[in-house]
Amino acid sequence: MTDIIDGNAVASEVRDGLGDAIETLDDAGVTPGLATVLMSDDPASETYVSMKQRDCAEVGIEAFDYELDPDTPAAELYDLIDDLNADEDVHGILVQMPVPDHVDSREVLRSIDPAKDVDGFHPENVGRLVAGDARFKPCTPHGIQKLLDAAGVDPEGKEVVVVGRSDIVGKPMANLLIQKAPGGNATVTVCHSRTEDLSEHTRRADVVVAACGVPELVTGEMLSEGVVVVDVGVNRVDADTEKGYELVGDVEFESAEEQASAITPVPGGVGPMTRAMLLWNTVKAAAEAEGIDVTL
Ligand code: NDP
Repeated sequence: MTDIIDGNAVASEVRDGLGDAIETLDDAGVTPGLATVLMSDDPASETYVSMKQRDCAEVGIEAFDYELDPDTPAAELYDLIDDLNADEDVHGILVQMPVPDHVDSREVLRSIDPAKDVDGFHPENVGRLVAGDARFKPCTPHGIQKLLDAAGVDPEGKEVVVVGRSDIVGKPMANLLIQKAPGGNATVTVCHSRTEDLSEHTRRADVVVAACGVPELVTGEMLSEGVVVVDVGVNRVDADTEKGYELVGDVEFESAEEQASAITPVPGGVGPMTRAMLLWNTVKAAAEAEGIDVTL
């Protein structure tokens, strides 16, 4: 029997687990605050931001919502970030990516106070992660670590193949998995679009993390029996449904499930964990900013 790893259930546990920390902060008169900045009229980005705000409200984090017209000069975005950096009620800042072309996304990430960088993308925080001294683990790979743990999968000593080398998923995932720490200690191969024979790598993996943004790229015949499959992909493909599309992952679920001992579904796998870990990082940021000890 293949274990279908239930991301909604694990995310719900993570959110419940934040309750004590939020109460401790509340006793000290502190409400964790997350500022979201949206500079796009892309419906998917709008949906992501509104889901994040709803998540905040559910657990007792105050969400501060900022929307800038996509034509706004970059300088106004930097001014807003400066204000949020200085705002004591704001413990975490999230600028929804992608930003418009006239804004340099790297400069945006650099302008956020690293202590409020709850996405974990500021170069200082990337450096700390690589050095094994993470302040904020990026939400998607951190969520995957929690999912694997909840499914009883310890990466230690295992061959893990990460398909994708983006700054937000593939690279930090690989970095976390090679850390000399719980949830790490794996032997990691990172594959990408220039990898010559992807299936040669995936076939010898004990765990495959697929984060390439190519619908159903990883199929059952590329996997060995008993593999654990984590599907990060969220791809809209045309389908004969009411909305005219359906969501599929980077893994072909049916064929992969036949080989896998455990697999995450899309939707309902990694996605809810990414959202939950953003809340986790915001509570951590609030506790550290206020110098209050909490258990996370
Ligand atoms: P990016 O497009 O930034 O990166 C994709 C990576 O996959 C690149 O490194 C690319 O290689 C590699 N790649 C592309 N094609 C292939 C191929 N044929 N074989 C091997 N590697 C390939 O994507 P993201 O990392 O941002 O996202 C990946 C997926 O995860 C997307 O579907 C995205 O929607 C989803 N996602 C889901 C989240 C969630 O919470 N569930 C959160 C974030 C992302 P190269 O570097 O050579 O171009």
